[in-house]
Amino acid sequence: MQDLTEGVARFQRDVFPAKADLFTHLATHHTPHTLFIGCSDARVVPELITQGEPGELFVIRTAGNLVPAYTPGANGVTASIEYAVAVLGVTDIVVCGHSACGAMTALAEGHDLSGAPVVADWLRHADAAVARTAGMAAGPEKTGALVRQNVYAQLTNLTTHPSVARALAEKKVALHGWVFDIASGRVEALDVTGTGTALAS
Ligand SMILES: [Zn+2]
Repeated sequence: MQDLTEGVARFQRDVFPAKADLFTHLATHHTPHTLFIGCSDARVVPELITQGEPGELFVIRTAGNLVPAYTPGANGVTASIEYAVAVLGVTDIVVCGHSACGAMTALAEGHDLSGAPVVADWLRHADAAVARTAGMAAGPEKTGALVRQNVYAQLTNLTTHPSVARALAEKKVALHGWVFDIASGRVEALDVTGTGTALAS
């Protein structure tokens, strides 16, 4: 905790003054351009990866960057998606998977999740991705394929949310699938055929 406290002090002393004008503006404006849906994994930091400034990204982070398909009724993920799209009017939505994802590794390698039953239930939102890679032997190749297929599956789930469906119909929002590689820092932008192209090296 002391590290965090020292970090806050360093932020106030060294970082905030240089961005004071930005924060003055942000105090009364909230107009992010992008909804970024990433994994809760501590190593996948949206603002660092994109070098986004405060105010640019509306972020949802869930275990495995999973987006449950729409069901009527309130839940945190759906509410956040709706707020970003219907109220804030983001123009882009990124679903970002990543290498060495604990959730995807557990699914790809068939880990025993009996000690984490809620996690096991939550990961059912990746069932379609699991099905697409079911024929592969367990190993790094399968895990990597599952990470990619999971991004596609979650993008599909995203489109079931009425706010997203409407924005897509009105061509007000664009969807993007990314995979972040922790070891190299590379971000791969997935295309519709799943082959992918590197954004930057
Ligand atoms: Zn992850």
